[in-house]
Amino acid sequence: MPLNEYKDKRNFKKTPEPVSEKKKRAGQADKKEKQQVSLEFVVHKHFASHLHYDLRLELDGVLKSWAIPKGPTMNPKEKRLAVMVEDHPFDYGDFEGIIPEGNYGAGKVYIWDRGTYRSRNATNKDESITELREGLSKGHLTFILEGKILKGEFALIKLKKASPKDWLMIKKNDEFASEEDLTKIEAPNELLDKKKMK
Ligand code: MN
Repeated sequence: MPLNEYKDKRNFKKTPEPVSEKKKRAGQADKKEKQQVSLEFVVHKHFASHLHYDLRLELDGVLKSWAIPKGPTMNPKEKRLAVMVEDHPFDYGDFEGIIPEGNYGAGKVYIWDRGTYRSRNATNKDESITELREGLSKGHLTFILEGKILKGEFALIKLKKASPKDWLMIKKNDEFASEEDLTKIEAPNELLDKKKMK
């Protein structure tokens, strides 16, 4: 069961995080999913004991997840450590809220960026899924993000000599590459919360 680690780490009586896999609305959801050309991705900004960003890529009904301490970058010269963490349920892509003190990952979670993605060489969703599965098992993924902030081609490369969970996220030098400091961009609801507090 791919979500056992996710469930084991959390007490759902105490955290507002989603419990389960995607709930399918009878018939319709399946049809809609088949029509969908791309897979979804989300990046959470997570104010845990250490601020980090969580990249989550939809694959096989779950969100494959990496915690990026310094956050993603559009600068091909800056390789960012991305630590693979447990698979999250697909529903987690819509989650924003406060994980209460004393719980795993306690702190505020905002959706910082989201959109669709595909494997670099894929021309349809099935090819994307096949390539992504292969990439995960060999430790080298190349994919195109179409988010509001993150755009263009990226690679996730597993570090062989380090901890087995350590990967690097690297921006490919394409037309979207830039040296902008993305950590200055705040999540939409983070901005709203700041306005409310004034
Ligand atoms: Mn996190």
